[in-house]
Amino acid sequence: MTLRVADRWFERRQIDADVTVLWEPHVVPLDRCNIWHIRGRDRDLLIDSGLGVCSLRQAARDLFDHQTIAVATHSHYDHTGCFHEFETRIAHTAESESFVADAARSLRVDSLSPSFRRYLDRVGYALRSEYLITALPHGEFPLDTWQQTGAAPTWLVEEGDVIDLGDKTFEVLHLPGHSPGSIGLWHAGSGTLFSGDAIYDGPLLDELPESDIDVYIATMERLLALPVNTVHAGHEDSFGRSRLAEIARTYISSRR
Ligand SMILES: [Zn+2]
Repeated sequence: MTLRVADRWFERRQIDADVTVLWEPHVVPLDRCNIWHIRGRDRDLLIDSGLGVCSLRQAARDLFDHQTIAVATHSHYDHTGCFHEFETRIAHTAESESFVADAARSLRVDSLSPSFRRYLDRVGYALRSEYLITALPHGEFPLDTWQQTGAAPTWLVEEGDVIDLGDKTFEVLHLPGHSPGSIGLWHAGSGTLFSGDAIYDGPLLDELPESDIDVYIATMERLLALPVNTVHAGHEDSFGRSRLAEIARTYISSRR
């Protein structure tokens, strides 16, 4: 099977004066994460970095003209592909060892275990294509031999740590359950939560080997109490407080 070459790899939308979201339309929905760029006065923040088949830094050169702190909300390969392109790499201590180990070894769907694929079918992220990408980033792309460049974090954070961009700060919230070191970035001034995979408006994955359902329930209870206005999530569309409450309550009642 041959895939066509994409006209461009990343799509983007500017959310407000400082926030831009980028995504990869030619990555299967399961692995298509939201990549958030936040402009700061003294330095910028990048939250997650895509699959890594195409250089984010080069494709979005105009966004990376400042010092940039890259955060990985967790170590899953669909969020960390271009992490290695940034010198300052933040992640939670609980997953400090996972980054290189979890790097994607193949884009072939049949390289995933049958039990994992059955799980994805069941939750609603069925993989119907042969590869995790549906187009090529460029003509010379080594589709069958490509591997992710894993990169370890350079700055480990924990609950309550603060990332200061000069004119705004983000507090690290430890939101485990999907994975042990899942974090959110909380901007209290605007009530904005960048939530990674802790909560998003789609099928939540809590039966991965590293997931913990009881811990996930506690995270959902915490999120219900947070004075949120907007959630910019790791996948799917952004949402407000009432949708957060629906997703969290549905999760808790289905799992308790
Ligand atoms: Zn994940």
